[in-house]
Amino acid sequence: MMLKIKRVPTVVSNYQKEDGGVATEGPRAGGCGRNCLRGCCIQGAKLPLYAFKGEGDVPTKGLVEARTKEAPVQFLESLLLGEWEDRMEKGLFRYDVTACETKVIPGRYGFIAQLNEGRHLKKRPTEFRVDKVLQPFDGSKFNFTKVGQEEVLFQFEASEDGEIQFYPNAPIDVENSPSVVAINVSPIEYGHVLLIPRILECLPQRIDRESFLLALHMATEAGNPHFRLGYNSLGAFATINHLHFQAYYLASSFPIEKAPTKQISSLELGVKMLKLLDYPVRGLVFEGGNSLRDLAYAVSDACICLQDSNIPYNVLIADSGKRIFLLPQCYAEKQALGEVNAELLDTQVNPAVWEISGHMVLKRKEDYEGASEENAWRLLAEVSLSEERFEEVTALIFEAISCPGINNDRSPDTSEDCPMEESGPVDGYNPASRTSRAAIPAGAQECVVLQ
Ligand SMILES: [Zn+2]
Repeated sequence: MMLKIKRVPTVVSNYQKEDGGVATEGPRAGGCGRNCLRGCCIQGAKLPLYAFKGEGDVPTKGLVEARTKEAPVQFLESLLLGEWEDRMEKGLFRYDVTACETKVIPGRYGFIAQLNEGRHLKKRPTEFRVDKVLQPFDGSKFNFTKVGQEEVLFQFEASEDGEIQFYPNAPIDVENSPSVVAINVSPIEYGHVLLIPRILECLPQRIDRESFLLALHMATEAGNPHFRLGYNSLGAFATINHLHFQAYYLASSFPIEKAPTKQISSLELGVKMLKLLDYPVRGLVFEGGNSLRDLAYAVSDACICLQDSNIPYNVLIADSGKRIFLLPQCYAEKQALGEVNAELLDTQVNPAVWEISGHMVLKRKEDYEGASEENAWRLLAEVSLSEERFEEVTALIFEAISCPGINNDRSPDTSEDCPMEESGPVDGYNPASRTSRAAIPAGAQECVVLQ
């Protein structure tokens, strides 16, 4: 069965429209006219490059020559937010997010409601497949290589010599596929950007260890708990199947960050696994780790387990990269099966990572005006797995990440099951070839709603 939901997608780039939008400058000789990041326009292109202080043994890509090194800039305040404001002045955003009404809803957790009527374009609805978390990259659909270079703020990579480096005008090293930070032209908050790992490799929306570590480095580099990164898998409200994280600045605590937690396990290398308590969406929290990489690998292995098991999920990277929330969810599937309350459906709220974290982006004035903690709670409760299913999924994750010798996901053909257990081919692109896992009964890989 193929489940589909008709939805009105959010435009994240000015070049996302079918006709390619309009070029802001005249076409370059030989270019496609959009000044994009593909072969037609990328030759000779330059962008600022911020090289963060990587861990010593992290493989880094060679920095090309002819880059002018300058004194390090303040990553968040000067570079990211500075460049973001520059694009706002240039009119690249579809609306002024700083003019959107926002309020904190009275209550225990302080859910944040935003009225954002401009975000959701009335455009031709597209069919988006929601029953497969892993889908192959499709170059004919919109992807971030099609954005205009003016939408890209800077390149972001590990430095070679262990020191922070900044190059205001660095050539794009096409061979090494840079990771970049770009604006989201439909921002939901101040400084809303996208981190696109190894953009030219055209990776599908799928967590791998190194990309997740890169996202943690960005959170660490920003060094401000009000700057968070988020990830939505396919089936959990990602709208573009091209690997990306989102991030923005909001000077307020998120409700999910205030929820109590209970430690359920101590993993290797100092990583702790906790369970969220007293929050409408059941989820796991990861903290600690002897190094940033230990934490990144534990969480990314958990994400890989979920995506290989076809369980949609969202991730919030909070507290400057020190706390990570992992939330498996089933809203889209319930929606496709007609099991979501019509009143909630009418709000057209897509419970993606920000909504689940307690920042509710509302499209209708009546929902904004009537927003209450009770309503937010009711919507988010629909997103959550049942207690029974959550325990099952937690066991599955625990099995996947507590097993020593787990494979590095950069080689996806290697089985990631424990050697002592039955293992089968792990092929995210073809779930039919996947064998069922010990902890999950056959057929239960769909989001079963047990209530
Ligand atoms: Zn082009």
